[in-house]
Amino acid sequence: MSIIQRLLVPRGLKVLVTGGAAGIGATIAEGFLEAGAHVYVCDIDAQALDGFRQRHPDALGAVADVGREEAAAHAVGEAAQAMDGLDVLVNNAGIAGPTGGIDALAAPDWERTIDTNLNSQFYFLRHAVPHLRRSGRNPHVVAMSSVAGRLGYPFRTPYAATKWAIVGLMKSLAAELGPEGVRVNAVLPGVVAGPRMDRVIAARAQALGLDDTAMREQYLGKISLRRMVSAEDIAAMVLFLSTAAAANITGQAISVDGNVEYL
Ligand code: NAD
Repeated sequence: MSIIQRLLVPRGLKVLVTGGAAGIGATIAEGFLEAGAHVYVCDIDAQALDGFRQRHPDALGAVADVGREEAAAHAVGEAAQAMDGLDVLVNNAGIAGPTGGIDALAAPDWERTIDTNLNSQFYFLRHAVPHLRRSGRNPHVVAMSSVAGRLGYPFRTPYAATKWAIVGLMKSLAAELGPEGVRVNAVLPGVVAGPRMDRVIAARAQALGLDDTAMREQYLGKISLRRMVSAEDIAAMVLFLSTAAAANITGQAISVDGNVEYL
């Protein structure tokens, strides 16, 4: 196989994307569909999922709260049955969680962030790994972490705690599953342009008593390339990890962030 051929996403991959109806997850799902994959997306937002499936009638999907194990078990079972197996799990779903000082955070908000961002990763892995073991098509997991999974993030402690934990989970699992040929990597997006980042900047501006424009300038000043990344940049990395060119990449926390220097 030539180097260029190695860089192509093989056709017909069976892919499950959590939180795949909107944002980065939808861009990843769309990338896989364009590459001729079978794609199953699950999302808590029924309206967004309907919209996604109307735009992509070939995609499969169901409403699921990833923070509940029964929902994860059901989604994985249905996906593997409908696609006759599973080659790629993209554990993408995540929420920003609350913004505020540690003593101002409410325990239910902390717990919801842990459930959605971290426990969900465990639930989907627990049910998907048996299918990945049987794949035989360069199977792998992408665990969506964040630049907040390699840097401290004041006033976003629940979020940062989940995103660092995802890196530990990934590193351990890559060693555990490597001998069986299953790869596990984390992708760490930086500041991704889009509605979610608009909300994050607005919440942080409010927490710090700044206006939105000043807050946005502060964000760009922390990035070596002085620009945000796009959802397409993240999706391209996830698709690359599905190619033969990435067959020996596992156990890595891969940043796609223009080099965020601090948060
Ligand atoms: P988003 O809010 O635009 O989209 C997230 C999707 O997940 C939505 O469709 C939402 O409905 C779904 N979702 C939320 N809670 C869910 C639940 N309990 N069950 C099922 N689905 C649920 O967010 P995004 O920016 O696309 O973020 C995707 C991932 O990337 C997250 O894990 C996030 O932490 C990570 N990330 C994002 C950025 C960024 O700047 N946008 C930066 C670093 C990391």
